[in-house]
Amino acid sequence: MKIVVCMKQVPDTNEIKIDQKTGTLQREGVPSIMNPEDKHALLAALNIKDAEVIALSMGPPQAEMILREALAYGANKAILLCDFAFAGSDTAATSYTLSKAIEKINPDLIVCGRQAIDGDTAQVGPQIAELLNLPQATYVQKIIKLDNEKVEIQKETEIGYDIMELNLPALITCTNDISEIDYPSLQGISKAFEENIETWKATDLKADKERLGLNGSPTWVNKSFTPTHQRQGNILKGNVKELAKQLAKEFIRKEIVKE
Ligand SMILES: Cc1cc2nc3c(=O)[nH]c(=O)nc-3n(C[C@H](O)[C@H](O)[C@H](O)COP(=O)(O)OP(=O)(O)OC[C@H]3O[C@@H](n4cnc5c(N)ncnc54)[C@H](O)[C@@H]3O)c2cc1C
Repeated sequence: MKIVVCMKQVPDTNEIKIDQKTGTLQREGVPSIMNPEDKHALLAALNIKDAEVIALSMGPPQAEMILREALAYGANKAILLCDFAFAGSDTAATSYTLSKAIEKINPDLIVCGRQAIDGDTAQVGPQIAELLNLPQATYVQKIIKLDNEKVEIQKETEIGYDIMELNLPALITCTNDISEIDYPSLQGISKAFEENIETWKATDLKADKERLGLNGSPTWVNKSFTPTHQRQGNILKGNVKELAKQLAKEFIRKEIVKE
């Protein structure tokens, strides 16, 4: 059983800062981490008996750090997709590039996080599945059963959960529930720094150049900004009767209710 885990390096912050001049994300000075759901996806893949787990990331040379971390946890192999030709990729170009690498690896199962904490679109997993014409399940909380032909999963829904069975090869995107967070062993960490990370460039992927990077991106970021909170609270004073009167007046004034 060959499993590819797609993982993205993201800034380690909940408070994303925007460069007001360029309207782009400020990445300098912000430490980077493996996208949290991708770590859960990796640990779920590593829990599968006798599986060969391949960690795959597209990013700049620094993204090697999260692949080393994946090796420290026990991934069998790590591949970095890194080339100037990939720069400026939107989600369509990112998914296309990853799908070409996955085609080359030819796995039985592809595991992604549900969503990256920076880009936040949750588009990459489903787009890869569409590009490769594979069955997919999103919001997966549990891998119930896996054999050489099928995977049975439990996926979160708005009102509870669904159980689905997919023919392999298939793609799933996972939530944090899929596995418990664990720590790599000291032995794993030291081994990870000795291992080789393969770097694949555009020419290694048999990809259509027009579908890579900025050329292959049908969307672009016009402007990014941090939303400001402009709502002001209005504190009413008085006893319950007075408060009720003031509130009713306010509702009428705002035409929430009629007089
Ligand atoms: C016009 C445009 C230009 C952009 N230019 C750049 C740029 O120059 N540099 C830049 O860093 N970003 C750039 N981005 C952002 C980049 O396209 C997205 O970060 C990327 O497509 C992933 O989307 P997301 O973060 O919403 O991931 P999601 O769709 O939320 O991610 C879901 C899952 O997909 C997998 N995944 C996502 N991205 C990767 C990846 N790179 N490698 C492996 N697995 C992955 C992970 O498993 C992840 O959990 C650009 C976006 C646009 C629209």
